[in-house]
Amino acid sequence: MEPLKISLVGDAPPPPPAEAPADYRGETPNRNGFVVAWPPQRYWKSASETDLTGEKPLHLYFHIPYCLQRCRYCFYKIEILSDSSHAQRERYVSALCREIELVADAHRLRGRAVRSIYFGGGTPSVIPPEQLARIKRTIERCFRLEDPEFVFEIEPITLNNRMIDGLANLGVNRISFGIQSFDDRVVALTGRHDTDEKNSRAIERALQTGAVVNVDLLAGLEGETMDSWQHSIDRAIALGVHAVTVYKMELYSNAHYMSEIRQGKLSLPSEDEELAFARWGLDRLRDNGYAPSTYFTFTREGKYPQHHIISRWRGEDLYGFGASAFGTVAGHARQNVSEIDVYLERVESGRIPTQRVLELSSADHMMRDLVMGLKTTVIDLDEYRRRHGLRLDHALADEIAHLSREGLVAVEDGRLRLTDEGIVYGDYSGRYLGAGLRRVFTGDTKPLRA
Ligand code: SF4
Repeated sequence: MEPLKISLVGDAPPPPPAEAPADYRGETPNRNGFVVAWPPQRYWKSASETDLTGEKPLHLYFHIPYCLQRCRYCFYKIEILSDSSHAQRERYVSALCREIELVADAHRLRGRAVRSIYFGGGTPSVIPPEQLARIKRTIERCFRLEDPEFVFEIEPITLNNRMIDGLANLGVNRISFGIQSFDDRVVALTGRHDTDEKNSRAIERALQTGAVVNVDLLAGLEGETMDSWQHSIDRAIALGVHAVTVYKMELYSNAHYMSEIRQGKLSLPSEDEELAFARWGLDRLRDNGYAPSTYFTFTREGKYPQHHIISRWRGEDLYGFGASAFGTVAGHARQNVSEIDVYLERVESGRIPTQRVLELSSADHMMRDLVMGLKTTVIDLDEYRRRHGLRLDHALADEIAHLSREGLVAVEDGRLRLTDEGIVYGDYSGRYLGAGLRRVFTGDTKPLRA
């Protein structure tokens, strides 16, 4: 639903800019390159299966790769629903249910406690409530639900009374709306069919259910101005949502935007304009009682943490179901095949649809806890030392001093934290420190690629 999420991107990330320095220490702060997973998926190897047996509680992710339209900025591998979409969706849901059963048995996960469930996409809200209930029943049959956080992504125009009731019956307690902008002119240019009025109505209905409500906004869309951006932030605040997530525009070669830019038909807000949007948004959200729970999600009074997302960054056991879904279980990062047809065919023939796997080394765990950990804006240095036996503030003293001089990080009370400027620069500090840690391990001084 939103362009920067936890599922597989539909295309390879763009290469680093030609002018990128050869040594990470020569980089200037930049906002390029969202880190989706660590280690990056390009290092995961083809594999049919691996042993994922373990005891820890699980987090479950379900990927729904269908949408009503292709938004012009989107780079995800999705399918637009066709006229025969009912059968299409039913077949996919049957495959999801079968995959849950197969995985529960093959990896001896049956009966394991589940702490969070996340339906992402694509657009999960195109699946009718009765089909969602089938998936939930299968989950309950295979696992032990421990009052899980249950997150569901919604495109506002798909929300009707039936869906509201269906989500309540499922036990959804966190709803995330892919809004991107509350400015009708900007939204129309993306190819989406939402309007400020429809969005606001859907959000108000969701708030009435008692669920925690998040809205995603995307800075840097075609036609965005400081006025339209301010309108979007202020509308989200006025609606009283619990969380506002601000994504930066990421361009990939398979997005319509990219081909139009190459043909000279489209220009987007500049890096400087985007930076100004991000700074203004952070200040405005802070002034209205929202605090960063990650560098891109701001929650009222810093409450309502996103357990599912943060557990993924911390490498807790998380299994991803559906085409292209990924997670990490028992120290193995793994991902399903991304082609929907291949996914369906594999599951329907009784095979687990694994595409690639990587067993994480100790160094991978240390890198992940640094690079992904800093997304939460704070790393507890003592906890890191207890976990990995390394004092980050000693090993990376030069890197931390450099980022402090740039005004991006601070060390206080045994915690390394992003400053407000560090928050605006997103993954930059994490990538810079990650490059430093890799230098410590291997002597390699190349910039870290997402
Ligand atoms: S709703 Fe739009 S942005 Fe979201 S996944 Fe579908 S096509 Fe992409």
